[in-house]
Amino acid sequence: MARQSKESRCSFCNSPKHETLMLIEGMDAYICDKCVTQANVLLAQEIGNKKSKVFDDSFTLLKPAEIKAHIDQYVIGQDDAKKVLSVAVYNHYKRLSQQIDRDEVEIEKSNIMLVGETGTGKTLLAKTIAKILHVPFCIVDATVLTEAGYVGEDVESILTRLLQAADYDVASAERGIVYIDEVDKVARKSDNPSITRDVSGEGVQQALLKILEGTIVNVPPQGGRKHPDQKMIAVNTNNILFICGGAFDGIERKIANRLRTQAVGYKVKKDDVDLDLKNLYKYITPQDLKAFGLIPELIGRVPVLTHLNPLDLNALRNILTEPKNSLMRQYTKLFEYEDVKLVFEDEVLDFIVDKAMEYKLGARGLRSICEAIMLDAMYDTPSDENVKELHINLAYAIEKFEKADFKKLKAA
Ligand code: ADP
Repeated sequence: MARQSKESRCSFCNSPKHETLMLIEGMDAYICDKCVTQANVLLAQEIGNKKSKVFDDSFTLLKPAEIKAHIDQYVIGQDDAKKVLSVAVYNHYKRLSQQIDRDEVEIEKSNIMLVGETGTGKTLLAKTIAKILHVPFCIVDATVLTEAGYVGEDVESILTRLLQAADYDVASAERGIVYIDEVDKVARKSDNPSITRDVSGEGVQQALLKILEGTIVNVPPQGGRKHPDQKMIAVNTNNILFICGGAFDGIERKIANRLRTQAVGYKVKKDDVDLDLKNLYKYITPQDLKAFGLIPELIGRVPVLTHLNPLDLNALRNILTEPKNSLMRQYTKLFEYEDVKLVFEDEVLDFIVDKAMEYKLGARGLRSICEAIMLDAMYDTPSDENVKELHINLAYAIEKFEKADFKKLKAA
């Protein structure tokens, strides 16, 4: 070695090599074991500080009314659900900031249950909220989950998804939002759970409990089954907000039954019995979820319960045009890229909504109907430079709609 004549020294503390346990050589510098240890401590402190910081500096907590105003730009109607969600999310983030203060009154976690027919905006609500809050967000389907050890996905896979959404930044994932879709599909299949093992129903509910409540879960980073050699990532679910959603098909009957027995049992006043029979969802209580087959422990861990209203003609019409990224705006933008001005006549919009109602396709069907009407135009326009403006009138819409395969639309 060329430097043997002059003893090497640590470039940080200047200790000579013979006084160190080890001197590590870099390009033009040395570092001794003591300085490495000290640097390690500093690094750990810095990482610790970053992790305990619940919000990054750019985060401003919106007030419930502001949260709702944001959601209003994307989601039509559903005022009850929006209000409940805004308050729950606001309180949730209040709770997160409270950890810094080490306050004495501990605010409990406020996971949310959204109940409403399919296609009424449950997922959209959850997605929109996550976007406003700039936190990692993922959607998981409860139907693929099974109890550990059975074919299907472990409940931990929910957190794998969230980690992926957070680019494996554990601290950020730990304050994310998870939307568990179709949670009604893990309802207990029968009233007597002991006869056969209910691995995709009650078993999953049991497994969900600990995650929902808040615990440290070892998560396989790439998903899939746990195996002994796999390195696990520990995720604390204490501050993760879970929003569960489900259509709970048939729950209206249970609600109606309960209301009827109440009406008989307590001799309700005349105007109290004036129920909105078209929308029984709005009378939903935790008791109904239990009757449907959710276990009480799970219901207890999702304390905020709210409903979504079925979408009527008016709501569907608004969904077509009002939201910031409404279908009509999307099509107009698509044609703008081709330098074509696209105009839908009002009658066409009414027609689209009528068909969606007629075939009971709901809001999801609006897109399929629009696609059916617009397909030929989207196919031909890019190759035709002479077209500068395109008016879609009722006759055109009816012709294209009838040409489309009706069965396909029904399946949408
Ligand atoms: P759900 O989760 O209740 O089954 P989604 O939120 O996935 O329904 O809704 C399906 C699609 O329908 C959404 O992507 C959105 O385009 C549209 N949609 C449904 N409800 C609404 C609503 N209230 N406001 C705006 N768009 C809606």
